Amino acid sequence: MKTANGDDRGEHSIPFCLPLIGEKEVEQVVAALRSGWITTGPRTLDFEQHFAKAVHARHAIAVNSCTAALHLSLASLDLQQGDEVITTPYTFAATGETILYTGAIPVFADVLPNQFNIDPAAIALAINGRTRAIVPVHFGGEACNMGEIVELAQRYGLPVIEDAAHALGTRYFGKTIGSIGTTTCFSFYAIKNLTTGEGGMITTNDGDRADRLRRLSLHGLSKDAWKRYDDKSNWYYEIRELGYKYNMSDIQAAIGLEQLHKFHHHQQIRKTLARFYLDAFAGMDEIELPPFRNFAENAWHLFVIRIRQEKLTLGRDDFIRALQDKGIGCSVHFMPLHLHPFYRDRFGYRPGDYPHAESVYERAISLPLYPRMSLQDAAYVSETVKKIVALNRKRIIAVSVAL
Ligand SMILES: *Cc1c(COP(=O)(O)O)cnc(C)c1O
Repeated sequence: MKTANGDDRGEHSIPFCLPLIGEKEVEQVVAALRSGWITTGPRTLDFEQHFAKAVHARHAIAVNSCTAALHLSLASLDLQQGDEVITTPYTFAATGETILYTGAIPVFADVLPNQFNIDPAAIALAINGRTRAIVPVHFGGEACNMGEIVELAQRYGLPVIEDAAHALGTRYFGKTIGSIGTTTCFSFYAIKNLTTGEGGMITTNDGDRADRLRRLSLHGLSKDAWKRYDDKSNWYYEIRELGYKYNMSDIQAAIGLEQLHKFHHHQQIRKTLARFYLDAFAGMDEIELPPFRNFAENAWHLFVIRIRQEKLTLGRDDFIRALQDKGIGCSVHFMPLHLHPFYRDRFGYRPGDYPHAESVYERAISLPLYPRMSLQDAAYVSETVKKIVALNRKRIIAVSVAL
């Protein structure tokens, strides 16, 4: 690993993430382009059907992002100005923003102590007469406690809209994420577990809601409006309600179909890498491993370590810089929403409002984990982490007092 000048970096450059796109995806995109049908069409329908089967959902509606999936799911609840939707502060911008698009207010429920997922007890405390929905986020591919969340939702008659941007391939006690909530929203953004460049999917078991979501995704037009330029179908359509332009194109679906074929294989690589990291860091006092209930049921979208700052002489940001100096790309998931200027200014949030989310955020480092990585790459990452720890360990000076 060392180069002649002693620089450990050598040929090592491990970006935080890279998509894994093969020749098959390229061929399928070319075939879609040559087919003459490049917007929503037969490939999108095919992708939806295969996807629904993969997550054991009755219906799947392809859209152009997970943000669109969340927005449409919330729009299908007919929320009113001032309604409240409970979600976690420990998430990406899209989760909070899509609630605000509808006129509703995101109400945050803190994560479980020393974990990344929302605390059902905090949800229970946040429910009141204005609450209209619960939006859990399966952080990093680890399922939220859906048993307790669904029970709360049923008790108060609330829909559950799952943000499963990290959770394609996740299961909860054998149930596939995508088959549980009122709707489940997936992301096919460039570095998610399955990618179409940009894209998303909504799954639901409710047929009426599926029809409505499909209509909302295409300007609120009457059924099958996407066929309106097909010779075989009628030019006629009606605008039934206020909709949006969120449909997926067949070019994206061509990539998605191929990615879905390879999905199991890609997940096996993620799991091998995650297992490698878990073994490599086992027993280290300075590093906390990602919490998980069941290794096999976690989709391992992210591998987030937390450093124990009281045992180290450098902070999280310097730790990341040290990794970057060795050619290793890292990230931080996530700065809690309530700490962002927009939320502070709009809602008056302050540091300290969601202490569990803040505590994990301050210590979190997402390490590279994706199917284009080799075990040698993971070994280089884990050895580098260990070296940084060894060089920056706080020395405890033991003083023995002779009596
Ligand atoms: C990536 C992500 C989204 C948004 O996905 P897009 O497809 O980019 O809109 C939503 N929620 C979470 C938690 C994400 O990580």
